[in-house]
Parts: sequence; C-alpha cells; structure tokens
Amino acid sequence: MSEKFDVIVIGAGPAGYVAAIRCAQLGFNTACVDKWEDKDGKPSLGGTCLNVGCIPSKALLDSSEKVEQAEHEFEAHGISVGNVNVDVPKMIARKNDIVGNLTKGIAGLFKANKVTAIHGHGKLLKGKQVEVTSKEGTATYSADNIILACGSEPINIPVAPVDNNLIVDNAGALDIDDVPKRLGVIGAGVIGLELGSVWNRLGSEVTILEAMDAFLAPVDKQLSREAERTFVKGQGLDIKLGALVTGSKTAKKSVKVTYTFKGEEHTETFDKLIVAVGRKANTKDIAAEDVGLVIDERGRIDVDNQLRTNIAGVYAIGDAVKGPMLAHKGSEEGVAVAEIIAGQQPHVNHDTVPWVIYTHPEIAWVGINEEQAKEQGLNYKTGFFPFAANGRSLAMNEKGGRVKMIADADTDRVLGVHILGPNASELISEAVLAMEYSASTEDIARTIHAHPTLSEALHEAALSVDGRALHKVN
Ligand code: FAD
Ligand code: AMP
Repeated sequence: MSEKFDVIVIGAGPAGYVAAIRCAQLGFNTACVDKWEDKDGKPSLGGTCLNVGCIPSKALLDSSEKVEQAEHEFEAHGISVGNVNVDVPKMIARKNDIVGNLTKGIAGLFKANKVTAIHGHGKLLKGKQVEVTSKEGTATYSADNIILACGSEPINIPVAPVDNNLIVDNAGALDIDDVPKRLGVIGAGVIGLELGSVWNRLGSEVTILEAMDAFLAPVDKQLSREAERTFVKGQGLDIKLGALVTGSKTAKKSVKVTYTFKGEEHTETFDKLIVAVGRKANTKDIAAEDVGLVIDERGRIDVDNQLRTNIAGVYAIGDAVKGPMLAHKGSEEGVAVAEIIAGQQPHVNHDTVPWVIYTHPEIAWVGINEEQAKEQGLNYKTGFFPFAANGRSLAMNEKGGRVKMIADADTDRVLGVHILGPNASELISEAVLAMEYSASTEDIARTIHAHPTLSEALHEAALSVDGRALHKVN
C-alpha cells in the first residue's frame, strides 16, 4: 500500500509551497514533492523564485544599485567616498546567503505546518497516484487531490545554446563572479533588463539585442519611451531594438554573436552572453502518458477558471498554467486552489495582478495601458504626475518618471495605473487595492496621503484626471 495524503503538491516554488501551507492550514494532511537541489546536491525549496529568480536577482540589483549610488550619486549629497572597490565574489556570497536563509525558511514553515516534504521528481500516475524518483529510488504515494505546480524553465534558442560558461541563462547570470568587460544580453524583457542593469552598474559594457521593434511592449508607451531614454542615455545601456540574433560562435574566452538589424547582418563579440528570451512551462515528465493530462498549444497545463485540469481531483497553478509568469500570481492561485479543495469559493482576480520591473527607476503597473484603452474603444480619461514635482522624490535626488492613471470617462473607475519612478514596486500596491475595490479616481483623490511621500504622486495623478492636480499646471 502506498502512503496516502489528502493533498500532494508537485513543486515547491511560490505557487506550490504556498498551496501546501494553505492546505495544511485548512486541515489537510499534505505532502509537497520537489526536486530542486542546490550546488551541493541538497534539496532547496522555493523553486525558481527563491533559488535563481526573484530573490537572488533583487539581491544583486540592490548591491549593484549601491555601487551606482556610491560612484555617481553620493556626490550630489555632498558625500565623497573616493574610489569604490567592488568585491564581486562577496556580493555573490551575500546573495547566496539570502537564498540559503529563505529556502531553509520554507523548510521551517513546512515543519511548523506539518507539511511532509518529499525530495525527488514527482510524476502523476493514473488513479491520483504520484511516483517520486530520487537518488534513493522510487516510491509511490496517493492522494485525494493533487496540485501540479511544476513552474517554468528558461527558453533555449538553438542560435545561442547555453553552455553555462560563456553563454548563460538566468541562473548562470546570477553567478558570474568576475565583471565581464563586454556583456551581451539577448532579450530586452523583464529579466534581460534587470540582469543587464546589474552588470552595467558593476562596470560591464552591456549590449541588449531585442528582436522586437517596440521597447517593453506591455508597458504604457509614455512610460516605456521615458524608461528607454533613461536606460540608454542616462545609464549607457546599449539597447538594440529590431536586432534578431541568428547565430553565435564561442571561442576560448569570448562569444561572437551574429544578428540582423535593419536588414543587414552584424556581428559583435562579448566576454559573456546572457540568454533571456523568456520562459516556458516545465511540464516534462509531469504525468504518465496514460493519464491523458491535457497540455495547451503553448505547452502549459490546461486549466479552467477553477484551476482544474481535465483529470478530476487534479489541479494546476503558477507558471505551469496560463496567465502572467509572476511569483505572486502563482501564490495567489496556490491559496485559491487549497480553498477550492476545501469547498470554499475563492477568487483570483487576474485583472489586478501587478507587474514590476526592478530597474532604476522601477517600472510598475496594474490594469490596462492607454494603448489598450484605445484598442478596446473605451471612453477613457487620463491623469499624470511627474516625480520631478514631488517633494520627497526631489529630497531623494530622484527627478525622473511619472505616475499615469487611466480611468473610465463615464464612471471614473480606475482602469490602469502605471508608474515609472522610485519605489514604483511598493507604490503600485495602493493602485492594486484601489482597483480590487473598484475605486474611482475620486476615491484616491479624497484619500489623505502622508506628506512628504512618493505616494503623493499617486494622489496628484488621481487629481490630475479631473484637471485639479495641485503641484503641477494641469
Ligand atoms: P517555480 O518557481 O518554477 O517552481 C517550480 C518548482 O517545481 C521547482 O522547484 C521545480 O524544481 C519543481 N518541479 C518541477 N517539476 C517537478 C516534478 N515533476 N517533480 C518535482 N518537482 C518539480 N516573478 C516575480 O513575481 N517577481 C520578480 O521579481 C521575478 N523575478 C524573476 C527573476 C528571474 C531571473 C527569473 C528567472 C524569474 C523571476 N520571476 C519573478 C518569475 C518567478 O520566479 C516565477 O513566476 C515563479 O517562480 C513561478 O512560481 P512557480 O511556483 O509556478 O514555479
Ligand atoms: P520576456 O519574455 O519578457 O522574458 O522577453 C524575452 C524577449 O526576448 C522578447 O522580447 C523577445 O522578443 C526576445 N527575443 C526572443 N528571441 C530573440 C532573438 N533570437 N534575438 C533577439 N531577441 C529575442
């Protein structure tokens, strides 16, 4: 007889581990199967997010931002520090410590919540059974309900095969221990821009090759234009749009990249190349063939709006299913699916999932942008407020960026909020809450915001929708 649980979760990323904890809170005897191992071959919970994604990238973004400030911004505050020395291995070690603490923290949370952690590759078998394969061998478990949270993995392109030496993916890009002189990045998406920024701040000459002509297509145009100007002119990132990488050739210590740009073939040589061309659902070997699990045309596990797969009692969440590949979206689905199993009626509002790009300045948004409002033929109005007119922002020596608000012209309901500026990642939460509560711009305008704070820019943007911002000419 195989060991039986109420719920088995496969995958302990932010979708799966949160689902497991919520299941345990709801009284289910829960197990979570995960195969991730650290460099020493030890189990490491937390998935992509904790091991090679959100957390380590933010640790390095923060360290490198401090270097940038010491080299270029302290002076404006009257602080001189002389030559700034950077110990990259120490920076990487600090990042690894943070990762280690957090991944161990998940193990602690599992223990405290009585979630059974099982290490190995989990595979769904017929009859709601899960076969787990590890170095120790193979064991089979069964459960009344199974949650597939197998996440995603980097997309590899044959024109630049990752060798984890000269050509690296996001994991390798977080472990470079010597600043490359010339760094190439393929893809100017969220990950490419964040990782490109890290190494640019640490002294690499960074060239980002992006196949699309538009810069950050999902971002409101007014903001993406200003962001592009800041990254290129202000920070020296060489962003080549419309540059399709067609090949690469590695030598002993460099990699030559070929790309087409404006109809012509170009080559460029780098000391390191980061491939950041997106991620795909990681469904390899997640279910035995005879289970008949339906995978959609984009390789994701097919789910309905209750996160149910085509197999009764089997659910799927996070990067492995439709929707934005974001940790907080996966976690929210994790909570929802546990509550669905418990017979509750949770709801994940995919229209209010915030997006953040942790460049400097940060970019964050929720809801629709102005281009989408136009495409949808909506009767809309907009308001904006520049951080250059916000006292707190100036006190921080932050002069760029803006808050832009889009609202329904008839009902005044907030449809989208877009922020380019300092701490945009934190500021966006107010907009998310407003939209979750179906607030109007008038609601935000009538809410008292502390002075002096960056959040006053949101307040002023709401006032500006109605032509009554106080600290700018409307
Ligand atoms: P994952 O985190 O991918 O976890 C899946 C887990 O399941 C892994 O541990 C995997 O080993 C395990 N697994 C898979 N298949 C099996 C199996 N068959 N058996 C056992 N175990 C299995 N998102 C944000 O919201 N904010 C950010 O700032 C952010 N930054 C990022 C930066 C980088 C560099 C990258 C790469 C990603 C970033 N993301 C960010 C995206 C975020 O990491 C993902 O959206 C999130 O990790 C998805 O969570 P998940 O639980 O669905 O999957
Ligand atoms: P994201 O999906 O946000 O991580 O972004 C990945 C980016 O990589 C997208 O904007 C793609 O257009 C870009 N991309 C994919 N393949 C190539 C390629 N061969 N050359 C240049 N850019 C690419």
